[in-house]
Amino acid sequence: MQKTIIINAHVISPDVDIENAAIVLEGTKIKSVGKKAPAAKPGDTVVDVKGQYVMPGFIDVHTHGSLTFDFCDPDPQSVFKLAEAKLAEGVTTVLPTTLTVSHEELLVAAKNAKAYSDAGMPYAKVPAIHLEGPFINIKCCGAQNPKYVRKPDIKEVKEIAKVFPVKLISYAVEAEGGDKFAKDCIKMGVVPSCGHTGAKFADLKKAYKYGLRHMTHFCNQMTPLHHREIGMVGAGFLVEDLNTEVICDKIHLCPDMLNLIFTRRSLVHIQMITDSLRCSHCKDGYAFEMGGLKVLLKNGEARLVEGGNLAGSTLWMGMGLKNVHDVTGLPLKDLVRTTAWNQAIELGWGDTLGKVEKGYTADLVVINPRSWKPSAVFVDGEQKI
Ligand SMILES: [Zn+2]
Repeated sequence: MQKTIIINAHVISPDVDIENAAIVLEGTKIKSVGKKAPAAKPGDTVVDVKGQYVMPGFIDVHTHGSLTFDFCDPDPQSVFKLAEAKLAEGVTTVLPTTLTVSHEELLVAAKNAKAYSDAGMPYAKVPAIHLEGPFINIKCCGAQNPKYVRKPDIKEVKEIAKVFPVKLISYAVEAEGGDKFAKDCIKMGVVPSCGHTGAKFADLKKAYKYGLRHMTHFCNQMTPLHHREIGMVGAGFLVEDLNTEVICDKIHLCPDMLNLIFTRRSLVHIQMITDSLRCSHCKDGYAFEMGGLKVLLKNGEARLVEGGNLAGSTLWMGMGLKNVHDVTGLPLKDLVRTTAWNQAIELGWGDTLGKVEKGYTADLVVINPRSWKPSAVFVDGEQKI
């Protein structure tokens, strides 16, 4: 079988940091990773990455859109555009994320994801979707439209999952029936996540008993730490095995908070996300609507025109990694698990995705260490960028 041999690679993978390495890809898999490059045979492709980082392709479990498109737009192009932009960021697997909208609109989004999947997923892989809402706390909407907030209803999730797999759902655990809802989600293979929530620690503990282990954009749109009620932020620090999503743009969380999270929590249970919106990959001044609310992109920040709430980010995953590396000084081989492998483990793909190791799927991103942008991206062994 013909092989792709990547040479002069600086491999960064969980607990692995090897310079001047060679990675051999065969079919959709990584055949070997080592110091010595095998001799290329006729038909093999040799790619010299000139000392750049080669990391596991990023997995973004929370992103809404890009290039002016939002996943909840009725236009089937939205998923293609999102996946195309994500691939350019080095994301090889993505869970397009819905907004708090009507049930009919959620069904259309799922249908569009299915159409992308049926078309062979030409860009980043979309194995499933993330429902952010609609079962959130009306007082913690952030940029989600309160008009469409409703109570947890597993029937609604099942109807959507019939159209296209749902892997993650962000909801408020304190909502009526919110604790047992976690169990119903797990039963159907969906990871329940606490988000857009006004929950007290006691509410979280009830849902935890039913299996909840995930927190949506930790610190954002959740109860803060107070010395007589530790809230969801306190819960994130006290309960080690909560998998916390973190937006690492230094805007949603200040650099000191990023430092606190990444140096005081176990890295095993942190997942970098972008929470990027349709304005990512767009120029400053771009104005748009999100779930019926007006948003303006100014100085790289997407905020609601009314009230000024942050609406999501324009972050690229590689920049998030750079930000945390700069702020904490932690080695990349430790931080890199938060960009793919942790996500893969929780979603059930930990044996195949998230590592640059023999036997793993050849989903790789080559990162330029100066710009922190991808210069090449491989999906299932095929160089797509
Ligand atoms: Zn979001």
